[in-house]
Amino acid sequence: MQGRWGFPRRRGGPPDRHIVIPYGKQFLDEADVEAVVEVLRSDWLTTGPKVGEFERAFAESVGAREAVAVSSGTAALHAAVFALGIGPGDEVIVPPMTFAASANCVVYQGGTPVFADVCPETLLIDPASAASKITERTRAVIAVDFAGQPCDYDALRAIAEPRGIPVLADACHSLGGADKGRPVGTLGRLNAFSFHPVKHITSGEGGMVTTDDPDLAGRMRSFRNHGISADFRQRDRQGSWFYEMTALGYNYRITDFQCALALSQLRKLPQWLARRREIARRYDEAFAGLAAARPLAVRAGASHAWHLYVIRLEPAALRTGRAGIFGALRAEGIGVNVHYIPVHLHPYYRERFGTGPGLCPDAEAAYERILSLPLFPRMSDDDVHRVVAAVRKVLEANAA
Ligand SMILES: *Cc1c(COP(=O)(O)O)cnc(C)c1O
Repeated sequence: MQGRWGFPRRRGGPPDRHIVIPYGKQFLDEADVEAVVEVLRSDWLTTGPKVGEFERAFAESVGAREAVAVSSGTAALHAAVFALGIGPGDEVIVPPMTFAASANCVVYQGGTPVFADVCPETLLIDPASAASKITERTRAVIAVDFAGQPCDYDALRAIAEPRGIPVLADACHSLGGADKGRPVGTLGRLNAFSFHPVKHITSGEGGMVTTDDPDLAGRMRSFRNHGISADFRQRDRQGSWFYEMTALGYNYRITDFQCALALSQLRKLPQWLARRREIARRYDEAFAGLAAARPLAVRAGASHAWHLYVIRLEPAALRTGRAGIFGALRAEGIGVNVHYIPVHLHPYYRERFGTGPGLCPDAEAAYERILSLPLFPRMSDDDVHRVVAAVRKVLEANAA
């Protein structure tokens, strides 16, 4: 038997309130299931009509000219880095407060990630730190919209574009957000999204890159298919068997049934964003007066998409460290998590690039204090109350 969130539940086992509320979870309805089944019964499982249909609907929903669908958010970032022509000897500035894929995509192409610190109040890349890391080898800045809040793109573009350096948005958290009225998906030269089940909409695994540049889109379409050029006129001239591999690409194609699922999910994005914002507002109200924990700040002009709700613990107001609070909340059935271990502290980066503690002090200090609370559209009001009550209880019980 399955519990409400899909966790196994024993017959006659503990009551619902002991079931863990995860930090994130997908929401599928019958229309989603129908959309997938329809494709399974069709002639096209992959590289068929649903891929283009999803790309066009997604591009329209964010207001971009082009959208290229791929097999994951990681593949989206990799395709973007490839399209920008990044290779060995090139440096790309990236914040450490993110999932490893934001930096790994640079390493895949032989480039060097250069870590810039984050603003302590938002955990978004600090434009001043990014500016200080620019060298004559810098080929891109990757901006990660941490937790769903768009970065300060005006400031980032102001430091990067005069030097001809493009800004690549890792928008895996921020679908549906906006910066000064401009939607996420149009803020970077390239913008990468993920459709992993914890993200705003899901295709199981899947990703997308949006851009206004048809050349970059063409390069990514070829990259997702082994670097094979899809020049139909040439095929006509040379014979219909003819194709050419013009660059080293990958199989990063997404299936038609995944695109059918994502298309069906995309229709629900506005109502799910509204629910995420409502839950975040309730958390904000509930935690406004706490001495032992503070939410992250929201930048003026940013429309937050609320992928994560992150609180920062105040060590001076607590007798217990983050690990103790984390364990106590898990024991209350609250599936708290930590986003993220700074990427430059992972052994791979330390060994390969010589990074380590002290490189990004604000990200490292934040990492010691952060907790992500459950936040997903299917949470009931009762779930939200449970989280609020558990956080209050655990912080009070551990007050200094
Ligand atoms: C989820 C995520 C990715 C990777 O997406 P996948 O679809 O899991 O490959 C990259 N960057 C960030 C910030 C993410 O949250």
